[in-house]
Amino acid sequence: MLERAAPRSTRHSGLYVALAVAGFYFVADNLLNKIALGDGWQIFWPLNGVTIALLIMRPLRDWPLLLAAVALGTGAGEYVDDNPLDSTIVQRCLSVLEVSLSAWLLPRFVSLESWLRSPGLYPRFAGAVTVGPAVSGALAAAYFHWVDAKPFVAAFNAWALADAMGVAAVLPLVLALRSTQFSVLRSSKRCLVSIGTLAVAIAVMTAIFATSQYPLIFVLYPLLMLVDWLLGLFGSSIALFFACVMAVFLTEHGYGPFANTAGLGVSRNLAVQLYLGFHLIGFLPISILFLEQRRMDKELRDSLARTTVLASLDGLTNVANRRTLDSHLEEQWRVATHGQTPLALLMIDADHFKEFNDRFGHQAGDQCLRAIAVTLRALVTRPGDVVARFGGEEFAILLPGTPLEGAQHVAEAIRAAISELSIAHPASAANDAATSEARHVTVSIGCAALVPRIGTHFHHLVEVADQALYLAKRGGRNRVCVADPDSEAWGPGAASKKLRARIEGLRLQRRGLRHR
Ligand code: GH3
Ligand code: MG
Ligand code: MG
Repeated sequence: MLERAAPRSTRHSGLYVALAVAGFYFVADNLLNKIALGDGWQIFWPLNGVTIALLIMRPLRDWPLLLAAVALGTGAGEYVDDNPLDSTIVQRCLSVLEVSLSAWLLPRFVSLESWLRSPGLYPRFAGAVTVGPAVSGALAAAYFHWVDAKPFVAAFNAWALADAMGVAAVLPLVLALRSTQFSVLRSSKRCLVSIGTLAVAIAVMTAIFATSQYPLIFVLYPLLMLVDWLLGLFGSSIALFFACVMAVFLTEHGYGPFANTAGLGVSRNLAVQLYLGFHLIGFLPISILFLEQRRMDKELRDSLARTTVLASLDGLTNVANRRTLDSHLEEQWRVATHGQTPLALLMIDADHFKEFNDRFGHQAGDQCLRAIAVTLRALVTRPGDVVARFGGEEFAILLPGTPLEGAQHVAEAIRAAISELSIAHPASAANDAATSEARHVTVSIGCAALVPRIGTHFHHLVEVADQALYLAKRGGRNRVCVADPDSEAWGPGAASKKLRARIEGLRLQRRGLRHR
């Protein structure tokens, strides 16, 4: 199969990105060595963490160009910092080996949320922090021992421990930059809280690493937990990164609890590394736990909301179910009693539906009930109105604040619209000589509207509407009746103009469906 070459613009944009990456590493290397860390690079070296993060975000085929750019930028930085060329080349090769090994051990990164849930993340993260730096550190120590006669262990510690610390501190931070948490923290609402929390955290950390008289070092862990709780992994990664930079910078300049470790029996650098290492190793799992807890909390709330919606609907027709109708009836009955306003209820029953099922089967019956429900929903749109399946082939519609006349208008519009759906039902006319027109599905509607008397129950309204429905059935079906025996059944043609227009719309819709 012929492979198509990448378009020229894509190849060029890859080169531009590589040049930008090289430029970034050149500047960052110089800034870190000359200003931020000085000789502290032997305690904490952050740039490899950035490289590993970039590698796991990119496909394998991009790695060579990316690694070359990183090596070129950092190598140029070291070269202008008076490092000999041969030593620079060896160090860059070992660094490439280190980041490739560590990145290879980690899961690919698509989003922080899914990355943190990758199987075996913590052991793989621990592997990435230790294996790459240890392998390259051993090779670097052998080289420096051979060329410069440096003690192997000291050279190993200076390389491997500093790199491991850097990877542990910076990798989560760079990944967190791509998380949804980061965009939330940047949002105008949360921005002030984020900046304020980080400012307080940085002030406390400055106090921790600038004063040697008080054992403030124990404050760092609870402080990081607090930042994580308030700002999530992104916030605590920034705080942890600052803690590392500040600890190295202030210790290098002779301040803080680690400046003088004469009595401790370990070197100054190792003391800082042990202290920061404890936080770096101990903090990621805590952070992941917090994140998981938040995610599960959200999932639980979402699924509860979904379940509540599902539990309130009828599974077949998607209108409200009987339980929801009852709770609305109870609520609206209370409101109407209190305000002495009318409350209307329509009881709608499909005519001769048993014969429809017998003739066409239950699936067609279900389909017909769905079509009726869609029509009801299309015609009853006022906020507060409730369309519900009462049970079987019966529906109910609750119309708060509606007097009998208004309810009759709606009922007639519904009767006409269902009839105009023209769903064939041969048994309909055959079984009922009183109805001349119906050779399709029709409904009978009982209509009731009451201003509730104090101390009465909504069952009364249901009973009155039910009686009206009985009258409509007895009167010949396909009609609207009110419960008052003196009131006349509403014949076709009494719907208001607005409702007629809606019926017309539904009829056109249905024709369109048939012709498709
Ligand atoms: P009437 O005009 O007097 O209301 O006659 P009817 O046949 O509609 O009334 P009847 O109460 O005798 O029968 C109701 C039928 O509705 C029984 C059943 O076959 C059908 N039915 C009830 N619920 C469902 C349902 O969920 N799906 C289907 N397909 N049919 C249903
Ligand atoms: Mg019935
Ligand atoms: Mg029926």
